[in-house]
Amino acid sequence: MSNVNNYAYKRYLYSEQIKNSLITIRYFLLSICLVSTYIYVVFSLFFGYSEILNIWFNLTEIIIFISLCITLFKFRFGTYSDKHADLWVKSVCITIGLMLALGTFVLYFQLPMYVKNFNYYQGLNLSFILIGVSLVFALAFLNQKLIYFLILFFPVILPFLYAQITLTLDNHLLFFISTDFILISIFICASISVRIQNKLTNLLFRNKLLVEDAEEQILVQNKLNTQLKIEMEKSKAIELKLQEYSQILEYKIKERTLDLEIMHQNLKNKQTNLILAHDIAGLTPWDWNIKERKITLNKKSNKQSLDSDSITLDFNKETPVHPSDVKHFTYELKRHLRGLSDQFEATYRIQCNDNKWHWVHDIGRVISRNPKNNFAIKMVGIRRDINKERLDQERLKLSASVLQQAAEGIFILDEDLKYIDVNPFYEKLTGFEREILLGKQVFEICINKQDNQQLMHNSIITKVLTTGKYDDEITEQFLSGKELTLRFHINAIKDDLNRTINYIGIVSDLTEKRLQEQRLSYLENYDTLTDLPNRIYYNYQLHQYVVTHQNSVKQLAIIRLNIDRFRPLNEYLKQSGGDELLRQLAQRLRLSNDEALFLAHLNSDNFAIVYELSHLRPSIHEQCEKIMRSLSTPFNINGEDHHITVSMGVSFYPEHGRQVDYLNSYAEQALKEAKSLGGNMVRIYNLRADVLLNQDIYIERDLRHAIKNHELVVHYQPKVYFDNSQIQGFEALIRWNHPTKGLIPPNMFLPIAEQTSLISEIGTFVILETAKQIQKWKLMGYENIIVSLNVVAQQLHRGNLLETIDHALQKYNISGENLELEITESSLVDQTDLVKKILEQIKMRRIHIALDDFGTGYSSLSYLTHFPIDTLKIDRSFVLKIGHPKQEPLVSAIIAMGKAMGMTLVAEGVETEEQKQYLSNLQCDIAQGFLFSKPLTENDATTYLVQHYQK
Ligand code: C2E
Ligand code: CA
Ligand code: CA
Repeated sequence: MSNVNNYAYKRYLYSEQIKNSLITIRYFLLSICLVSTYIYVVFSLFFGYSEILNIWFNLTEIIIFISLCITLFKFRFGTYSDKHADLWVKSVCITIGLMLALGTFVLYFQLPMYVKNFNYYQGLNLSFILIGVSLVFALAFLNQKLIYFLILFFPVILPFLYAQITLTLDNHLLFFISTDFILISIFICASISVRIQNKLTNLLFRNKLLVEDAEEQILVQNKLNTQLKIEMEKSKAIELKLQEYSQILEYKIKERTLDLEIMHQNLKNKQTNLILAHDIAGLTPWDWNIKERKITLNKKSNKQSLDSDSITLDFNKETPVHPSDVKHFTYELKRHLRGLSDQFEATYRIQCNDNKWHWVHDIGRVISRNPKNNFAIKMVGIRRDINKERLDQERLKLSASVLQQAAEGIFILDEDLKYIDVNPFYEKLTGFEREILLGKQVFEICINKQDNQQLMHNSIITKVLTTGKYDDEITEQFLSGKELTLRFHINAIKDDLNRTINYIGIVSDLTEKRLQEQRLSYLENYDTLTDLPNRIYYNYQLHQYVVTHQNSVKQLAIIRLNIDRFRPLNEYLKQSGGDELLRQLAQRLRLSNDEALFLAHLNSDNFAIVYELSHLRPSIHEQCEKIMRSLSTPFNINGEDHHITVSMGVSFYPEHGRQVDYLNSYAEQALKEAKSLGGNMVRIYNLRADVLLNQDIYIERDLRHAIKNHELVVHYQPKVYFDNSQIQGFEALIRWNHPTKGLIPPNMFLPIAEQTSLISEIGTFVILETAKQIQKWKLMGYENIIVSLNVVAQQLHRGNLLETIDHALQKYNISGENLELEITESSLVDQTDLVKKILEQIKMRRIHIALDDFGTGYSSLSYLTHFPIDTLKIDRSFVLKIGHPKQEPLVSAIIAMGKAMGMTLVAEGVETEEQKQYLSNLQCDIAQGFLFSKPLTENDATTYLVQHYQK
């Protein structure tokens, strides 16, 4: 153990001994009290009262009491120093030792002397008990310090030792030896006990030290732990912060990287754009290292990649500047190198790879100079390829001079057809100055008042806008007063995307040329006899008119006119007479057709008249009537009056067609028809038959089939008396029940049949079919029924009609009175006598004869008287006109005339009550029309008959 510890131990031992002694001494005092009390009591009991012992006892008790009190109050509860306490314990020990020694003295030396029955032996015993027991107690309680024991021990044994000396050893030797042995043992025990005590204390101290050490270590440990914890938390927080910082850092790095990437991309785009811009603009950046005499041209390497490629040229060797431009080039360059100009700029030619000279435009600037002598070191610039520009400019100049000097009017229009440029010739042509023309619409400078002018301009504009071009001759009246015939040629100018950007117009003046031509063409185009346009010119004019006015013209009527029976008359009149007749006829036509578009003499006695129809003008019928009237007065030729009649055929544009050739030929066909009907009449071309003819060439073949296959059927349309609405009979009307086309009306196939022998076969079929039907009705009791049959001229002329009729009458055993034949006026025209004979024979069979479609043909009274006609069938077209005040007199005249001649009058196509009433009032006899019934099938006709017949 170290000195420090040794010292501490000593201090600890000392204070511990004192502390413990202060406790044990109390017990020691109490045990002494007990011993003394025992002695006193024993003595008192056995030997009675002793004054001296009593004093000793009380004194002892008092000392013990006082000592106890002081020990308790002063050293138990009060504060004290170890030194004082040590002193106190020592004083108590010595006091008690003295008191015990006094007790021994009293007991052994005094009492045997004063108390009778009490001897020295008893005194010795009692005193030994007193000291012996007290020392045993001392051994137990005063073992902290040997000194305490000793300062008690020695005073205590002194009187006892003294007694031994004083007493005779023979008597008490054993006793004394024994007692001394005991005392010595006690002394030894005391010293051993103290030592043990000391060792224990030592151990305790060590323990205590260890505990303190341990506690201290625990404390230190705890402190360390706490510090460690704090440190750990700190490090954790730091780690978190670090993590956070690293994340932020990472994010920032990413952000920066992205920014950098975008910047990089932008830069790349800009670079690409720049290169592209350079490329598009034909720019080549260059830099010139003046010191090393090297020029670097940044050329684009290829079209796909925009990476630039640099070419380095040796300035010394290569001077590809055009000899004519060298002077100007070097002058400008030197000026700038010397610092006399802000920048170098020059336009010159350089020699390219293809050995051709190319125009370029250079702009450059010195960017660094030698600070000492101010000599230029480096220069940068841009070269622009202006070759195309230069060439274009030159070409433009050329074009401009062409434009200026051209002997044709040239103008340029914008997309709205407004003038943006004109050449001097066009100014001269129109009589307007350039400034006036610019901004005006192409035809704004022309007279636009009349309909046809406006229409023409509109049609040209439409054509230009839709097709992009126009090229034709026009006659134009300008507001400047000029009137010119022009070749007008306009063409659209398109851009690369085919969008119209401009129009270019070239105008040639044809006025003079046309006048010349006109003079010549008159001779070509006009018929010198009549002074009217000839066929060629007529066709040309009509064609022109139709083409140029196709959008505005609504309807044209093309009339073909021909003199009836001209040939014999011409022969009679001889050449000159014939010519005179034609001349006069032309004159009259000219007068009566003053509103016609064209009037032409085609050839011989053929004329053509063209009218533009509108509701404002008279109808074509009225116009034809006017023509006929104008010709009704005789023509005086060579002093003789001659009557002529004409036939006319009419076709209409656009109903019959849009082509001039067709229109002419249709009008001619209609004319032929009029001629074949006897002339002196007007026929309008009937499209339907022709269409059918053209459309279906197989119809004839099919028709033959139809007859064989019994596809033809007869329908019956009732004829009714006006006065009592009773049925008079039927008209037999044929229909073709076509397997695929359905029920075909007769107009669709009869015209074809008429051109072949088929019509006779059909006629025969209808006659037999009708006769059979009449027989059926007669057998049903309808005796007086009259069924009319339609007969065409061909049937009459062929001659087997009578036989067929006879055969039918015979076969079905019916009378001729039940039959009526309907013939048209045209049937009566040719072979008049033959027809008359046949009709008479028909009449002999008591068959009725009706004149069909009366009013549409010649309507000549002579026919009516010449042929044995019983009935007049007034054509539907007249019935239709009922209600028109102008037309009505015609109907009443026909009826009156028929009546006067004793004929039965049948009105066809009665459709309204008004028509029925009107005709009934005029005493027309029989009505036929949809008002009563449409043509009916055999069965329906029978039903109708049953309902409307009064037997
Ligand atoms: P059509 O002889 O003048 O016959 C009268 C025509 O007028 C019939 O036409 C009839 O259906 C029609 N009709 C009658 N009433 C009215 C009416 O109120 N309004 C209208 N819009 N039409 C009416 P369909 O049957 O088409 O016959 C046309 C022509 O064919 C006949 O004219 C006739 O010329 C001819 N036809 C008919 N059947 C025969 C025949 O068997 N032989 C010959 N050769 N010709 C025939
Ligand atoms: Ca008829
Ligand atoms: Ca008729």
